[in-house]
Amino acid sequence: MYNQLVEKAENILYETTFRELDKIEFSNQKKVLKAFTDNNVGEHHLKGTTGYGHNDIGREALEKVYASIFNTESALVRPHFASGTHALAVGLFGCLSPGDEMVAIVGKPYDTMEEVIGLRGNNQGSLKDWGVNYRQLDLTPEKEVDIENFYKVINSKTRVAFIQRSRGYDWRPSVTMEKLEVICKKLRELKDDLIIITDNCYGEFTEVKEPTDVGADLVIGSLIKNPGGGITPCGGYIAGKEELVERASCRLYAPGIGKEGGATLDFLRLGFQGLFISPHTVMQAVKGAILAAKVFEKIGFEVSPQYSDNRTDIIQSIKFKNPKILEAFCKAIQEASPVDSYVSPIPDIVPGYEDNVIMAAGNFIEGSTIELSADGPLREPFIAYLQGGLTYNHCKLAIIYSLEKMAKFL
Ligand SMILES: *Cc1c(COP(=O)(O)O)cnc(C)c1O
Repeated sequence: MYNQLVEKAENILYETTFRELDKIEFSNQKKVLKAFTDNNVGEHHLKGTTGYGHNDIGREALEKVYASIFNTESALVRPHFASGTHALAVGLFGCLSPGDEMVAIVGKPYDTMEEVIGLRGNNQGSLKDWGVNYRQLDLTPEKEVDIENFYKVINSKTRVAFIQRSRGYDWRPSVTMEKLEVICKKLRELKDDLIIITDNCYGEFTEVKEPTDVGADLVIGSLIKNPGGGITPCGGYIAGKEELVERASCRLYAPGIGKEGGATLDFLRLGFQGLFISPHTVMQAVKGAILAAKVFEKIGFEVSPQYSDNRTDIIQSIKFKNPKILEAFCKAIQEASPVDSYVSPIPDIVPGYEDNVIMAAGNFIEGSTIELSADGPLREPFIAYLQGGLTYNHCKLAIIYSLEKMAKFL
């Protein structure tokens, strides 16, 4: 029964949205391939260094490839970034000095950024602790970027404007590259030496353009999300203006070392390979998210974005309005995972969240959310955030399975 429901939804998508997505994938695959060939990536680049990591030609090639893809002067692509949050912290500390101000221009940033900025009690080495002031411009009541009021939060001390591309775990639209272009233009009009930093997590390769194509100075992301293609085992990247990337690299390592240091061990082949496959993996995940939007909307749940909306990240939110259904859904996603299918997720305390959170993920790479995963805080209106999927068919199977498991509550 659910097979049929899903297939019917899928047929419609194949004739509409999926065609457009294939074009985006093609364009991004072309861009990535060109970056590899333009930079003469060779077998000798796939082997890493040890010790200090001096003269690491593979690392230099990988960073040139990233810089080509993001249309930037420079890039820092390292396994030494512990996570996306770490890469974002390094980028921000690199650009900001004591006395400067940073402004989050599209509302509250991702949860983990609160501690980096110093918005929670413990300010051990946060930006605030280091003397950086923080301002935030909230979204309008309609959840739109409040462009008309940019001028109110920008002053002579403002050095960084921070923009999160993805919705994160929030019920709001993501920032498309079309919208970002307008935002960057407006910001430059108000202050032309502002450093515009985009948190690009979950956004890479969902559109044909990236933030640095439309006016951002720096893009930052995680390699266990989109650009790692489900293959790269760890790390993060920062791409942008040479001077800013250099400053960030001195933060990651030490002043005087910068980009010249950092052994890559066995990281490089997987860094290149994951990046190469990423435009495909990302679109598999986006197709899975759109199928979920179509199916869950069909059976009566509110979803965001809609299946027909243009996407700029891989996240699908589904409002279940019922804790039992949310739990059943997350449990089903776990049971339909290639790894740890026998594990049962239970709602529990997660540092940084007020409510218990249920998290489902059966991954090859720990915490990787380009692999299929779902989570949701146990609070009204019981929203599940679904993202990732290495193959579209895995997403489809997991959706069918979740419907079967949820049936008794529907
Ligand atoms: C994932 C993510 C981050 C960073 O999270 P990590 O778990 O540290 O990699 C930051 N911003 C957004 C929007 C994200 O999706």
